[in-house]
Amino acid sequence: MAAGSTTTLAKPYRGRLAPTPTGHLHLGHAKTFWVAQQRSQQFSGDLILRIEDLDRDRCRPQYSTDLLDDLAWFGFCWQEGPDVGGDWGPYTQSERQPLYREIWRQLNATGLIYPSPHSRKDVAQALSAPHEGDREIIFPVHLRPATWESVNDPGAVNWRFRVPDGETIGFIDQNLGPQAFIAGQDFGDFIVWRRDGFPSYELAVVADDHAMAISEVVRGEDLLLSTAKQILLYRTLSWPIPAFYHCPLVRDQAGRRLAKRDGAKSLRSLRHQGLTPGQIRAGWCDRT
Ligand code: GLU
Repeated sequence: MAAGSTTTLAKPYRGRLAPTPTGHLHLGHAKTFWVAQQRSQQFSGDLILRIEDLDRDRCRPQYSTDLLDDLAWFGFCWQEGPDVGGDWGPYTQSERQPLYREIWRQLNATGLIYPSPHSRKDVAQALSAPHEGDREIIFPVHLRPATWESVNDPGAVNWRFRVPDGETIGFIDQNLGPQAFIAGQDFGDFIVWRRDGFPSYELAVVADDHAMAISEVVRGEDLLLSTAKQILLYRTLSWPIPAFYHCPLVRDQAGRRLAKRDGAKSLRSLRHQGLTPGQIRAGWCDRT
């Protein structure tokens, strides 16, 4: 049975921009965020800015400062965020750790998450089939523990969510239409808590989108599989599932998706070259 189908948009509309300050924003972010802004305006809703800075090794405070400036320059306008406040803050993930621990506790109480001492290297070695590049690595089921000690704190170990093997997780994307991914086949047991004491992206984003009453998540289509995983977390926590709208990725002339390391395409560098936001938006029409 397909789980998590959503067809209608909940009211009031609340959308979000959720940048990660590991570098300067590039055209791909601007384009997806622009869709998010247009959707929130179309539905007379609010747009929330949330800084996703949980990757302590790669995030820099300077990038957080710069992204606020770049977004404002480009013409983004948010009703809630780290700079303007709001009723659903804090709007910076590194300040929301108590919430994430509480959600870990709720998940732990369901028995569907388990401690997993295996590193990515262990997992790669345990797989018989070769895997390449960006392809999803499916956590081998034989590495699931049969039993584990009951604890009230995640401690210094990774925790994974046990997926319902063979079940199709489906949803109606507001842009791409029906989507379906098979648990255990398209994705496996995924990390919800990291051994460094922080939640994974999947747990943090679900906790925050729920806590901030986000009604529609607009993001790049590279996150479609993540959406399927996140739907399982919503379901396990008995939370309403938001609508999802996935945008095509912006690619360079060689067809590669833009990455932050591609500094030449950062909004900041285009701005310094003298381009205006209007000219940048006009360029999108040529490319897609
Ligand atoms: N911070 C995440 C990113 O930059 C957000 C993804 C999402 O929209 O859920 O990829």
